[in-house]
Amino acid sequence: SALLEVRDLFKTYGTGDTATRVLRGLNLRLEAGEMAALLGPSGSGKSTLLTILGTLTKPTSGSFVMLGNDMIAAGDKELTDFRNAHIGFVFQFHNLLPDFTALENVVFPSAVREGRETPAARARGRDLLTRMGLADRINFPTANLSGGQKQRVAVARALMNSPELVLADEPTGNLDRASAMQVMDLIGQINRDEGTTFLISTHDDKIAGLCQRQIVVGDGVVTG
Ligand code: ADP
Ligand code: ADP
Repeated sequence: SALLEVRDLFKTYGTGDTATRVLRGLNLRLEAGEMAALLGPSGSGKSTLLTILGTLTKPTSGSFVMLGNDMIAAGDKELTDFRNAHIGFVFQFHNLLPDFTALENVVFPSAVREGRETPAARARGRDLLTRMGLADRINFPTANLSGGQKQRVAVARALMNSPELVLADEPTGNLDRASAMQVMDLIGQINRDEGTTFLISTHDDKIAGLCQRQIVVGDGVVTG
């Protein structure tokens, strides 16, 4: 079944002479449980599409339905609640709090949502970090972790609230080949075990080849 569908999506930044028309009638449907790569040259609009699907940016026009909800009609408060409950994000630059431990970073989204750090959240955080191969780094400040380890903490953090969808913008862009493969392997395990849908932007055909589906963006539409 469809997790989300966008139709006839347009996004233009700016106006007049300096307007940049990034998306130009893009259609995309993601099925629940897919692990899909998002490919396309730099500047083709991959990040823009991810921020729209993540409800962080509104498209200029078009329709967007996710889990049966009209995401265009929804107000800001509804979108924030929806995002916290259903969507996880991983970025190229992990955006971790360096002085916080791995576990504190992972539990942070849940603590924000609940207003406190619950024992159940800490237990899930430990479980996720263990599944990311970081059992022996749970209480390390993230400043003291390697690049690959930091990115695995970021994946665990994205999974904390059990989102249906994880949007990852170049999650391996800053990693060496071995760390990148390890991150992709762990994402694949979560996809298989929990049915979490992943959409992963990348420049790297090898990384994209590890996904079940490759979605190519060019000239503001899906070209393949
Ligand atoms: P990609 O992720 O494929 O590299 P982006 O979505 O980042 O593509 O960028 C697509 C185009 O939109 C680029 O020309 C970029 O300069 C422009 N763009 C992205 N974000 C903004 C913004 N906030 N304001 C103005 N232009 C933007
Ligand atoms: P990766 O290939 O995952 O980036 P590194 O070679 O950078 O791995 O790191 C190897 C080991 O060194 C890891 O166990 C990591 O915890 C440790 N390490 C890396 N960077 C730092 C740092 N700035 N401070 C302390 N330990 C570090």
